Amino acid sequence: MSGRLSVVGLGPGDARYLTPEASAALAGADALYGYGPYLERVPMVAGQSRHPSDNREESARAAAALRHAARGASVAVVSGGDPGVFAMGAAVCEAIETGPQSWRTLDVTVVPGITAMLAVAARIGAPLGHDFCALSLSDNLKPWDLIERRLDAAAGAGFAIALYNPVSRARPRQFGKAMDRLRRHLPQTTPVVFGRAVGRAEENVNVTTLATADTTPADMATLVIVGTRQTRVVARPGRSPLVYTPRAAAEVSA
Ligand code: SAH
Repeated sequence: MSGRLSVVGLGPGDARYLTPEASAALAGADALYGYGPYLERVPMVAGQSRHPSDNREESARAAAALRHAARGASVAVVSGGDPGVFAMGAAVCEAIETGPQSWRTLDVTVVPGITAMLAVAARIGAPLGHDFCALSLSDNLKPWDLIERRLDAAAGAGFAIALYNPVSRARPRQFGKAMDRLRRHLPQTTPVVFGRAVGRAEENVNVTTLATADTTPADMATLVIVGTRQTRVVARPGRSPLVYTPRAAAEVSA
């Protein structure tokens, strides 16, 4: 079977963040699948078909793209950021695992992209400069109890924490609950970075502390980085502060 499927990371924002490998995969595809607003970021190529779908339809989108590739086409599925981080990469792998045997003979490539936490971290210094972890606060695919246990474990073990999907219209109160949970383990003065729409025209980055984090506006285009007990804020005259987590840690900071 000659079909090809690439799962392509677009990076966090505009074309500056698209890797040359991702650009080539997109330009060479016969068909593009993805969440509508992500497809709109991809330059048009004559003769290429586009198949936008809704944000929540990852499994159906993966299956549709695989069926299309299995007919012999070169298909690209796009994700914002990196496709392996809370995105289409795992949806495509799962569809192949549970789908028809013939999908296992397709040429599948995952093309990495700059994920939101790295783009936000780069804007402000190096808050992920020591050990860190990433968590999605969405409870669409896992129970809230599990999210709280992971927050306890991560903060208790001294990891900086990148929080994806901090808020949505369907989950207005969970971000506050997550901050309450972290305050059990971390001082009120722990630096917290909010990066909204990083890499796009409306980009906005703010630094606050755990004490007031839940009063800072956040939405689905925001990524939040919660520092550790060691994370430093370096004030600079006339410039925004640098936030960094030192490369060395002496003790478990629980
Ligand atoms: N695959 C994506 C993440 C998808 S989950 C990646 O690797 O970045 C969607 C979440 O990612 C959003 O709720 C937000 O927390 C974060 N995000 C995506 N793009 C962002 C951007 N440009 N700026 C800040 N956060 C972003």
